[in-house]
Amino acid sequence: MKNPSSRKLHIISLGCSKNLIDSEVMGGLAQASGMNIVNSPDRADVVIVNTCGFIQPAKEEALEIILSLAEEKKRRKPDVKLIVAGCLAQRYGKELLSDIPEVDLWIGTGEVGNIVRHLKKTTRAAVITKPDFLMTAGHERILSSKSVSAYLKISDGCSNHCTYCAIPAIRGKARSRMPDDILLEAQKLASRGSSEIILIGQDTTAYGRDLKSRPTLAQLLGGLAAIKSIRWIRLLYAHPAHITTDVLETMAGHDKICRYIDLPIQHIDDHLLAAMHRNVSATRISEIIRQSREIMPDVALRTSLMVGFPGETQKRFERMLDFMRDVRFDHLGVFTYSREEGTPAAERPSRISEKEKHRRCDVIMNEQADISYAINQELIGSVQEVLIEEESDREGYTFSGRCRRQSPEIDGVTYVKNSGIIIPAMVKCKITAADHYDLFGEVL
Ligand code: SF4
Repeated sequence: MKNPSSRKLHIISLGCSKNLIDSEVMGGLAQASGMNIVNSPDRADVVIVNTCGFIQPAKEEALEIILSLAEEKKRRKPDVKLIVAGCLAQRYGKELLSDIPEVDLWIGTGEVGNIVRHLKKTTRAAVITKPDFLMTAGHERILSSKSVSAYLKISDGCSNHCTYCAIPAIRGKARSRMPDDILLEAQKLASRGSSEIILIGQDTTAYGRDLKSRPTLAQLLGGLAAIKSIRWIRLLYAHPAHITTDVLETMAGHDKICRYIDLPIQHIDDHLLAAMHRNVSATRISEIIRQSREIMPDVALRTSLMVGFPGETQKRFERMLDFMRDVRFDHLGVFTYSREEGTPAAERPSRISEKEKHRRCDVIMNEQADISYAINQELIGSVQEVLIEEESDREGYTFSGRCRRQSPEIDGVTYVKNSGIIIPAMVKCKITAADHYDLFGEVL
């Protein structure tokens, strides 16, 4: 058997950006212990699949990948060590241990910091402990996102207990990192070349509420804006129950903070908001949107909606449809409700059929496509600051990047025509064309 420290490790990261950071932390710890990180499972002695287990489609995707790696191991590579980490392992690792014998180790979300110890283990096991891991700036992440922008996890876990959501059980209660530790990591990311820092957490607007010193998100944003080498700061996952005027004013008061609010409202019907335990009313959601646009007239608003929650009658669905038509979000995502075992909503009557959920999802997405197209058309002729990220494969356009209105992976991009740009670059760009999701322009 090879010396553990000279082995090659490949990590497959599934799910969201929060999970990606856990993968990067595990990669960093393994590398510091002497392992080599490789970019293909074919070249690896150890493969970690860092899974998502939040909703049914994510579980299915994770299982499919695990089973194909297990099959490969059985047929061709019996010596490869297969580790399954993350949310699926936290939720089902103990049951799956006997179902998939090719997996050597199932480790839960609380075990990210112990990965080096687990890499040395030789016995099969499921190690599912209390999910209380919280990274620090001392963890050297292996950055896998485009280096020009980097995610920064300001907190982990969630204490909201939305009735449809399994996250609090998988990721533990809300734990905020200390402000100094976050600022230190932001400085490190900036010195490694990240122009944009994207703040994430399950509920970023609840930041600091669990800490004795009660730091606020607004103070943290102000502190980050003072770091010279950071060009853009972006905030994702702003729960409407916790967003404050202070946060909005801080966004408006610092040019570096993108005027972009990711406000996952899920629904607008008060009965359903209460049944979902969202701790926010339709009136308050409307007030936040009105106030955001009043304080920042050029703000880009993103939301996510859920269709098919038990009890979503046609009338309640239409209420949401009217609301999104009325508000005209710049970006919008829709999820169909997934009945997750162990969550209070799973016991609710008045279930909606899958077919009807998908119909409602399509109605919203079609409606949003028209809204996004109209909003993008209105941007033609405007000048946007664009962070150029890569060469473009789109005909007629040499580079692609994003303007402040566009978050990576979830929104569209901005294509530019000019040549001779050295990546990464921040350029002023005149928007000359637009489609449903992307913008097109020329550098001024
Ligand atoms: S805020 Fe609600 S939906 Fe989001 S992670 Fe927490 S419990 Fe889940």
